[in-house]
Amino acid sequence: MSLDAVLPTRCFGCGNRLGSTQAYGACQRCWLGLDPLDRGGSHLQDGTRVVSAVRDTDVARRFLLRAKFGRRPEIYGPMGRMMASALRDFPQRPDDIIPVPSHPWDTLVRGFAPGLELARVVSSRTGVPVRRLIHRGWRPWTRFKRLDRAGRRALALRAFRLPHDLRGRHVLLVDDLMTTGHTLLACARCCRSAGARGTSGLVWSSAS
Ligand SMILES: [Zn+2]
Repeated sequence: MSLDAVLPTRCFGCGNRLGSTQAYGACQRCWLGLDPLDRGGSHLQDGTRVVSAVRDTDVARRFLLRAKFGRRPEIYGPMGRMMASALRDFPQRPDDIIPVPSHPWDTLVRGFAPGLELARVVSSRTGVPVRRLIHRGWRPWTRFKRLDRAGRRALALRAFRLPHDLRGRHVLLVDDLMTTGHTLLACARCCRSAGARGTSGLVWSSAS
């Protein structure tokens, strides 16, 4: 383990030397540079509204990378609280929070799943229970990034299973990042097929 992991000396957001005013390894300037989005959000093809907590900036991305690949899941605490704040003007209080599951291999290697970690924080702030109802299969396993758009959509649809009854429920899907939206769309379709009356999404940031 490097000394940096024990006593971080440089901000993971900007790379500058850390002074005394830092939190979770990021300087005050990077924290205050996060740009919370109060309103809006985007819509998936099926009408699912997806709300992002912060604007998709380089620094916002580095928070995700630090937590996920730097294996610092404790950063999901303040990130999840900012996500819960973004739900304030949500017209519909969800009945269930369902995390978008990571691939089981990634969870095995990392020891945590970003969607679940964030869902737990959002749940503790809102009182809406987390239900881990969507299962992600071991197969199919293909490097998502190598696929074209159609390939990604087809793969995402085959990857998830939801063997539960969600009749009459409004579901909030939680994930760390939305890129193409195919993963969230596939999960929303699973929920709808299981009888959900409505689906929404909540992410830290959205690249689309
Ligand atoms: Zn910084």
